[in-house]
Amino acid sequence: MKRKLIAVIGVVLMISGMSLFLHQRQRKERVVTTSDRLRVVSTNSIVDDMVKNVGGKYVQHYSIVKRGTDPHEYEPRPTDISATAEADVIFYNGLNLETGGNGWFKKLITASKKDFNQDAFAVSKGIKVRYLTTNKNEPDPHAWLDLANGIQYVKNINQTLQAKDPKHAKDYQQNTDRYIAKLTKLHQTAQTKFQQIPADRRLLVTSEGAFKYFAAAYHLPTAYIWEVNTESQGTPEQMRQTIKAIEATKVRHLFVESSVSPKSMNKLSQETGIPIASTIFTDSLAVKGQPGDTYYSMMKWNLDKIYQGLDES
Ligand SMILES: [Zn+2]
Repeated sequence: MKRKLIAVIGVVLMISGMSLFLHQRQRKERVVTTSDRLRVVSTNSIVDDMVKNVGGKYVQHYSIVKRGTDPHEYEPRPTDISATAEADVIFYNGLNLETGGNGWFKKLITASKKDFNQDAFAVSKGIKVRYLTTNKNEPDPHAWLDLANGIQYVKNINQTLQAKDPKHAKDYQQNTDRYIAKLTKLHQTAQTKFQQIPADRRLLVTSEGAFKYFAAAYHLPTAYIWEVNTESQGTPEQMRQTIKAIEATKVRHLFVESSVSPKSMNKLSQETGIPIASTIFTDSLAVKGQPGDTYYSMMKWNLDKIYQGLDES
């Protein structure tokens, strides 16, 4: 009898102990999700801005490559390594943007003890990849310059944030729906925009050949001095080829990107006598407070400035 009683008391104690443990765990989990926002690290300012739009107040966001800086080749700083090590989610473009060249991102992930597809996710998942002309095995990373791809990036970010933080899934979905509606409107307006410009003036000339996806989406042929920022830039042969492409048209303006040195484009302008219309954005947003300081605003700026530059006499 005594033994039975002890056993019963033991079971009761065990159950109450377990429920106390569960209760404490629940409390702890509740505290973590409400007071600590999801820590999200992105490799560049464009992806970071998309995260901000989807995550809103529930995420704490950090961009490794800062505004105005080239993300193709980069040397992570100690603060980048600690931010990545502490992150709940890491987003990168993929398509060889951060893993081509000096491969800085792979090294950063290893140094931060993180894993691909578990902690680090490519936002370009599911898009139709275009390849480099100079190296047909290598993807062209600049997919975001087609707004339809940018929308796919946003969907991927939303899906990952919901999986990592299911308590705020509804909020992420609402933010995403609102943001996508805005981007879709801009994309639809842009699709017919350039057809009003005479065909022989419709050539987009830039330093880097970053506009493949843009060109396909908005029906605009392109010419460039070099194909990707990691190659040799502005060699005499590259200059000769670009001048040849320009001289076959009646194009009235050239463009220079905000995240490259303007040296080669200035030279091209001098040699052809064609002025540079404007700075446009490819691999980075503008500094805060300037036009082009968000993904939406940089795309709108590019579309407006390119249209004006090609149309203007
Ligand atoms: Zn680039």
